[in-house]
Amino acid sequence: AAVPAAAAADVRQRWAELAEQVEAAQFAYYVRDAPTLSDAEYDRLFRALEELEAAHPDLRVPESPTQRVGGTFSTEFATVTHHEPMMSLDDVFSLEELRDWAARVDAAAGRGDVEMTCELKIDGLAVNLLYEDGRLVRAATRGDGRTGEDVTLNVRTIAAVPHQLDGDGHPASIEIRGEVFFPVEKFEELNASLVAAGKAPFANPRNSAAGSLRQKDPRVTAARPLDMIAHGVGAVDWGRVTAPETRTQWGLYEQLREWGVPVSTHTRLVRSRAEAEEMIAYYGEHRHTVEHEIDGIVIKVNDFALQRQMGATSRAPRWAAAYKYPPEEVNTKLLDIRVHV
Ligand code: NAD
Repeated sequence: AAVPAAAAADVRQRWAELAEQVEAAQFAYYVRDAPTLSDAEYDRLFRALEELEAAHPDLRVPESPTQRVGGTFSTEFATVTHHEPMMSLDDVFSLEELRDWAARVDAAAGRGDVEMTCELKIDGLAVNLLYEDGRLVRAATRGDGRTGEDVTLNVRTIAAVPHQLDGDGHPASIEIRGEVFFPVEKFEELNASLVAAGKAPFANPRNSAAGSLRQKDPRVTAARPLDMIAHGVGAVDWGRVTAPETRTQWGLYEQLREWGVPVSTHTRLVRSRAEAEEMIAYYGEHRHTVEHEIDGIVIKVNDFALQRQMGATSRAPRWAAAYKYPPEEVNTKLLDIRVHV
């Protein structure tokens, strides 16, 4: 991003350095599937940039990485414009920050104990699945949020993604958003086979999911045991079909399940902050019992009307928050990891 003009020279210099470091890390992570920093290091840089902008608001320009969905797309793929932009999530790193967010929800609702879904934050990569009259017609990565990469042929090889939705009464067009992930127990096997073939192993299951999906040859993707879980929708056009009265996030997941789209079995509907904190504590202890990696818990306002009322920033919805678990270990060897082809 270009350096904003207003702040003092040393502050602008610091801003430019941080923004450049964040953008370089994003390129390595989203385009090359080979991160140069650990997620904790990246999160620290991102926070430092946010804090600098909080102290110097004129630095908070629309081009700043803090104001955009953090990602981009590779020109090796055809590009796809999402009907509705794909957003990121605002992170909270402590229960105190979570309470601040929940207080904003209560203020918007005008009451306490607002119903929320508590969901595992799946550490994979986001995909946008476009179904027309119940048929999968296109699949794309998130990219920069507006424009993603066309990975339709690759996504078609994932057994969990239905080519045709079950039942009838489907919308004329619907964008179903989900997370493609690499099951943890298969990850070591994949790395062992890559090393045996003289190739570089992946840093973690998240990067193996991204690297396996973003392949030029769908046969490579087909040979990888990728899985998918849906966690939302984008643009929906019901066309001539009467829209069902789905008014909640929880109801949406039930609808997706009826269509044969996998949704998480771990999601809970909670009615108090104490219940949300209980889920956070539980999976903090049991994160390795889950079939995919998780890096936190996503908490979403359940009621669609309140979601609409709260709206979104240029980067993320205000009606959701991602509680991030502290890193388990910092991998200092990441810099050695080579690019995958
Ligand atoms: P994010 O990954 O923190 O949150 C947004 C994403 O969460 C969504 O796009 C969605 O795909 C996913 N998600 C998973 N489970 C979900 C659920 N139940 N409901 C809704 N969404 C769910 O934000 P981001 O902007 O995509 O990326 C930032 C994060 O990516 C960083 O915090 C870091 O962990 C990682 N990252 C790391 C590096 C690096 O260099 N190591 C670089 C860039 C990003």
